[in-house]
Amino acid sequence: MTTVTLIGTPVVAGVGHGAVLVPGDRPAVPADEPARDDTPAVFASAAAVVADRLQERAALSTGSASEVLSATAALVQDRGLAALVAKHAGAGNGPATSTSKAVDELVAMFTAAGGVMAERVTDLRDVRDRVVAEILGQPEPGVGVPTQPSVLLADDLAPADTAGLDPTLVVGIAVRLGGPTSHTAIIARQLGIPCVVGIVDLPQELPATALVDGGTGEVVLSPDADAARTRVEADAVRRSADAAWEGPGRTADGHAVQVLANVQDAAGAERAAQEPVEGFGLYRTELSFLDRPSEPSVQEQTSIYAAVMEAAGAGKVVVRTLDAGSDKPLAFADMGSEANPALGVRGLRVARRRPDLLAHQLDAVAAAADATEADVWVMAPMVSVPSEAAAFAAQCRERGLVPGVMVETPSAALLADRVLEHVDFVSIGTNDLSQYTFAADRMSAELGDLTDPWQPGLLVLVEAVARAGERAGKPVGVCGEAAADPALACVLVGLGVTSLSCAAGAVRPVGARLASVTLAQCQEAARAAVAAADPTAARAAVADVLDA
Ligand code: PEP
Ligand code: MG
Repeated sequence: MTTVTLIGTPVVAGVGHGAVLVPGDRPAVPADEPARDDTPAVFASAAAVVADRLQERAALSTGSASEVLSATAALVQDRGLAALVAKHAGAGNGPATSTSKAVDELVAMFTAAGGVMAERVTDLRDVRDRVVAEILGQPEPGVGVPTQPSVLLADDLAPADTAGLDPTLVVGIAVRLGGPTSHTAIIARQLGIPCVVGIVDLPQELPATALVDGGTGEVVLSPDADAARTRVEADAVRRSADAAWEGPGRTADGHAVQVLANVQDAAGAERAAQEPVEGFGLYRTELSFLDRPSEPSVQEQTSIYAAVMEAAGAGKVVVRTLDAGSDKPLAFADMGSEANPALGVRGLRVARRRPDLLAHQLDAVAAAADATEADVWVMAPMVSVPSEAAAFAAQCRERGLVPGVMVETPSAALLADRVLEHVDFVSIGTNDLSQYTFAADRMSAELGDLTDPWQPGLLVLVEAVARAGERAGKPVGVCGEAAADPALACVLVGLGVTSLSCAAGAVRPVGARLASVTLAQCQEAARAAVAAADPTAARAAVADVLDA
């Protein structure tokens, strides 16, 4: 096979080269499966075997990989699933058919619920395939354990597949589907496996070897062996520089840029604090409450927030108030059904109808801040106009808190000067700012090229906000996924951003890259990225400047 280079969306930097590994076939439910009296028991014992296997792998993993495996194991043993299987068994179906029909029903319910529930559909289908394979006595579906360094190529990966991967054997991942915020991307980032998503033209017939470059988004099929070795060696040099980086964040010529971690709970915050970070630049508080039917008391919220603040020691913690709605529905802040939830009553807008929720949360944040050493700042999500920033800031200041807002809408970016008259800082959420600037759903893999954080149109808005920050003498951070890309992080600094907050696993690659270039290089890279025709051209132009 001749060498072919394809381009997707790069999500985890690094170069991996090896034999091509593809996930095993998913089991097919036999059309003529006979009914059995003991179907519920057959299901229960297959489910128990599958759950044990997942729990064993969870025990051998850490962090989000372990959490994903445990969550999938819990889903296998969900009582609602068993009840649906019993219902279909009662209607005269065999065990594999009943399992499949029960999961189909749950998939329909989860899809209708939307948001985070809909994202669990991939987990449900994965659970179905594992249980059906066990019932039929077939090998476990999904990704096998390779015997040599391998590059995993697939349509998409089930969360439990990705979480169980061994980064010493699976050295690269490339998938046809999935965007920068998909499960595949999140787990690959945590495991540090170079990863490219959204390679729509990946052929069905695959070669024996491939190379994945998660920095450039390239997937090279049948690469020349010597050229591949050279790329892998250069990447190894970069990785050892990452491992050696100990902070604090600054360019080679000493321009200081805070490098911070994004966190969502105390366990994650404690892990993130092991990295050379100056604190947490985005604490997504809503993620602690996704399964809560009712509002947690101020006292309980205080202790949850204090545990995260304690992990930061005397470092900075930027607490984001509840970003409920759209892709993160909270039962106790439910605003009813909306035709367009991403454009609906979400984030700070929830306080229009439920000011009590925001007041209680700010009381809890203030109490937690008083009880800990951390340098606590607070920001509101989904702010569109300066008057929203003014009202939020007043409520924070009443409680002695340092107020800021996220810049996630084009209006907030364009009016950043006026927003900054009211608050002490802003933090740009590039995930939502892309979604609203390009009118493209951030969850859509098909539109991933539009929500690519290298889009020059997004960078122009970042630059406008950074200039407003300079004029006001106030900090401007970036806490969206853009800050996790080492080369793009240099561009953001060149545009005038003063802090970067990213997944804990990206902290060292970002810090080390920044330490390898001067502020002038960052500024030149920023000019090149803004002037580029598209994200691919921007990446290439910036690589030329930063590697010069
Ligand atoms: C963002 O929108 O960039 C952001 C950081 O917020 P979230 O991803 O939680 O919506
Ligand atoms: Mg957001």
